[in-house]
Amino acid sequence: MHTQLIRFIRDTYKTDDFIPLHAPTFAGNERKYVLDTLDSTFVSSVGAYVERFEQQIADFTGAGRAVATMNGTAALHIALYMAGVKAGDLVITQPLTFVATCNALHHMGAEPVFVDVSRQSLGLCPVALADWLAANAQRTESGCVHKASGRPLRAVVPMHTFGHPVELDELQAVCREWNIALVEDAAESLGSFYKGKHTGTISDFAALSFNGNKIITTGGGGMVLCRDAQQGARAKHITTTAKVPHPFEFYHDEPGFNYRMPNLNAALGCGQMETLSRFLEQKRALAMHYAEFFQDQPCQFVTEPSYGRSNYWLNAIVCEDQTQRDTLLTELNKAGVMTRPVWKLMHRLPMFAHALRGELGNAEWLEAHLINLPSSPAEV
Ligand SMILES: *Cc1c(COP(=O)(O)O)cnc(C)c1O
Repeated sequence: MHTQLIRFIRDTYKTDDFIPLHAPTFAGNERKYVLDTLDSTFVSSVGAYVERFEQQIADFTGAGRAVATMNGTAALHIALYMAGVKAGDLVITQPLTFVATCNALHHMGAEPVFVDVSRQSLGLCPVALADWLAANAQRTESGCVHKASGRPLRAVVPMHTFGHPVELDELQAVCREWNIALVEDAAESLGSFYKGKHTGTISDFAALSFNGNKIITTGGGGMVLCRDAQQGARAKHITTTAKVPHPFEFYHDEPGFNYRMPNLNAALGCGQMETLSRFLEQKRALAMHYAEFFQDQPCQFVTEPSYGRSNYWLNAIVCEDQTQRDTLLTELNKAGVMTRPVWKLMHRLPMFAHALRGELGNAEWLEAHLINLPSSPAEV
């Protein structure tokens, strides 16, 4: 199969050169806007592109307020902070994620708890979450706590893996029942919708990423999505050193963060937002093209869940077994077609090996079977 697949991907991208997993495209006004920041000298923390980019994201997603940050990890940190996560807290997330999810909460002094994913959505499974809580959690007057340790279970952080939306209604129902905050790691899912609503706007706080490999990029960058505009104003305040506006005085009214996105990066983002809808169309067409190819192959192409619309950020296949997975990885990479296994599961990393966890059978099964295929937007 690998010879056929290599030819198929090379035909799709119409090149004999190395094919990366995901490369950015700058086909709009990016150059013009970036040069404008240089000409005006406003390359840093002050400038009109930041607000413009925030507004573009808020308009596109329907978030009450969007607050730009220097990267997605910083956006996650702020989203968790806004949701009330504190040192010593436990935060439930999925083991199948990029390490940034766990790093963000770790640096706040919180610890992850790993609960299994669904094989369909590749994201946090509401049934596994409900089961883990029923067995391990307890409601108290001050909120939900872990029975054995008494530590607060403050937040649940599902991640929309490769852009496929998780089962948000069901997760939200469990979170409400247990009085735990829901925070979406929507880093991979700009342009993905859950029952018509943009991912990251169902929970009170969420994070997007604009790293170089995401669907749009600002070089490095992130965005905090807040449902409530007033909460959004507070998120903006704490990410900009908590400085109280004044023509010349320096006064800061709480410990703030310097997590601002520079104007230089926001200029790039403004250009990218103008082409987002075209990227989304191209990525959907590419995904359908892959789906067709895999119809009569032993591997199964991962499609969006029935209740949502995926941005198909990274295309993925589920192999028959680990041998097939390893052969494909070896042969495609050898042929200059970049393919990757899914991230090493979080509970296998040394710093999170001692974290509390439930049964992780689906995550472990997916880890052994999944491969990501080249996914840069292309005309197919
Ligand atoms: C990209 C990503 C982030 C944020 O990454 P940054 O590089 O800090 O922008 C967070 N979570 C997930 C799941 C990601 O894929």
